[in-house]
Amino acid sequence: MIPLSEAQELVLAGCDVLDEAVVPVDHARGLVTTETVLAPELVPPFDNTAMDGFAVRSADVADAPATLGIAGTIPAGVAPDITVGAGQAARIMTGAVIPPGADAVVMVELTEASADGTEVTVAQSVPEGNHIRRAGEDLTVGQTVFGPGEVLTPGHLGVLTSLGMYEVKVRPRARVGVMSTGDELVEGPQPLEKGQIRDSNRHTLLALLAEAGCDPVDLGSMADDEDEITAGIRAGVEKCDALLTSGGVSMGDYDYVKKVLDEIGDMSWMQVAIKPAKPLAFGLVEGIPVFGLPGNPVSSMVSFELFARPGLRKMMGHPSGSWHRAPIMGRVAEPLHRRPDGKTHFARVRVEYHDGEYRARSAGGQGSHQLSAMAAADALAVLPDGDGLDVGEPVSLLILR
Ligand code: AMP
Ligand code: MG
Repeated sequence: MIPLSEAQELVLAGCDVLDEAVVPVDHARGLVTTETVLAPELVPPFDNTAMDGFAVRSADVADAPATLGIAGTIPAGVAPDITVGAGQAARIMTGAVIPPGADAVVMVELTEASADGTEVTVAQSVPEGNHIRRAGEDLTVGQTVFGPGEVLTPGHLGVLTSLGMYEVKVRPRARVGVMSTGDELVEGPQPLEKGQIRDSNRHTLLALLAEAGCDPVDLGSMADDEDEITAGIRAGVEKCDALLTSGGVSMGDYDYVKKVLDEIGDMSWMQVAIKPAKPLAFGLVEGIPVFGLPGNPVSSMVSFELFARPGLRKMMGHPSGSWHRAPIMGRVAEPLHRRPDGKTHFARVRVEYHDGEYRARSAGGQGSHQLSAMAAADALAVLPDGDGLDVGEPVSLLILR
């Protein structure tokens, strides 16, 4: 067995960063920028009002209350065709251009217009610049909006479009193929024959990829047949940036995935000192990273978390500090026992926040075939080799959601 960190390093060393691409803003959420974006124009583009009210000369209302003549109305979206002269005010709507002559806005709540709409009485004095949002107050021309290595959030996409930029240079989503292997696997609602099980891993992995910001590609299910698996993997690496297989990497007679990968790829077959997810095949086929994940449903998910997700995040340009899930410290709320076996265990736990600390308790059956507990888990609790942890002991938690 090799330590987890060694296996993770080997995987990361085989995952190269993808070439940059230009992506439409509406498809760029979660992707990582590769360029410095400079503002080509001012945001906001002109001085405008933050309030509905009246644009005034602040000197005119210094001795409030003051009554002013209404020179006109300025809605949002038009260039004002009036100038506010001494003793005058202009009715103005939020977002509208401040008219020439005015240097402050009085909000409508502090005003009262005459019945005929020709005059307005301002109840309070306001300082110069009151409620005026200045041109360039958010971004000025030439200002750095963000640099390379920025993970694009919805807010970033709003900033880009506020500048008239509808495309952005990023590391693209990794296109990742998923294939399951196993003679026992079936798909569909029909009753199971003796010995058959339904293929769940492929669907879990496709969803995990989508959650990780990848572009998942369903490559279907393969029989435990060397030729079929070889053809499937060859076809997969043709059209994908990476491949996940499930099953066929353990010690059984029909575990062909590791055999095929040994023949057509530059592979490492590992026994990692962890539970679940001890077996892992990883390597390159035609230069494309292939992750041979174990078949047990919990193992395939844990293996994805510990190996595939970090490798794919590296490929998509994420900063190295965020390849792995950052552990948080919590406390054991219910005993998490285990036996010494030279491995680090990852227990599926529910996590609640109480009285200033995270408390972890088992999410259910801890067998690697008991997917329901993995589904219910908020986190993987790291149990170092030994007898496990008792109530109140500190525990490192990899939060999954
Ligand atoms: P293997 O790694 O092929 O030896 O499979 C280990 C266990 O995982 C066996 O009990 C398989 O039936 C089960 N298994 C393999 N592939 C899948 C799958 N796609 N969905 C659900 N269970 C699977
Ligand atoms: Mg199998």
